[in-house]
Amino acid sequence: MLVIDAQNVSKSYGNIKALNNLSLNVAAGSVYALLGPNGSGKTTFVKSILGLVKPDGGDIKLNGIESTNVECRDGISYLPEKFNFFPYYTVLGVVKFYGAMKGLKGSELEEQAINAVKSLQIEDLVSKKIKQCSKGQVQRTGIAAMLMGDSKLLILDEPFSGLDPIAIKELKDLLIELKNKGITLFINSHILSEMEKLCDHAAILDKGEIIAQGELSTMLNGVSLEDFFYTKVKK
Ligand code: ATP
Repeated sequence: MLVIDAQNVSKSYGNIKALNNLSLNVAAGSVYALLGPNGSGKTTFVKSILGLVKPDGGDIKLNGIESTNVECRDGISYLPEKFNFFPYYTVLGVVKFYGAMKGLKGSELEEQAINAVKSLQIEDLVSKKIKQCSKGQVQRTGIAAMLMGDSKLLILDEPFSGLDPIAIKELKDLLIELKNKGITLFINSHILSEMEKLCDHAAILDKGEIIAQGELSTMLNGVSLEDFFYTKVKK
């Protein structure tokens, strides 16, 4: 079962070709990394599948449903690269807000929110206001908010951004735990060493085009992801 099925997707901003005829499939249960240098089109692709950007051409299906149908995004959570929460909300308030938006209420909302903050080791921050949190604490809050509502596909744009080395390890362990629960993860990242340990499939994007993709160990054929990436993406 394909959770993301993108065929020949193109998007230009004026004369910048952000995506050029991009085709990419993500199977249920996989951890898929979309890698590429700055400006290669990763965020534009994620926004295209989420309906936040309208592609100029191509066909995108999520869970077998055309992306023009809003129902295709049921059961999907998205952590953008840049986000702002209400500064006067507490950490728990933000997590519950996103749970409520997913339709949770009452004791189910409370329970899921407590479990989510525990998963991110931020239970001691629940009463802290967002405006008083560090960047990494806000990032953890964002990931906790994503866990609300039992989503089956998590799309994370640069999830390691702003996290210290301990938090990076904890997030990696959490993502592995989610994968083991059968959740599909689609991750944009620059941190190749972490992604090599985490993902089972990857695509490398350069100047809006896929220059390599597939099952990771087959694609790398014994080479490290870093070395593979540097030989593929030439300046
Ligand atoms: P990064 O790793 O730096 O976040 P990215 O791979 O996610 O980059 P995109 O943000 O998708 O890349 O950008 C792809 C190209 O499209 C870049 O040249 C960027 O300048 C351009 N672009 C993206 N959004 C817009 C926009 N709203 N208007 C004009 N150009 C844009």
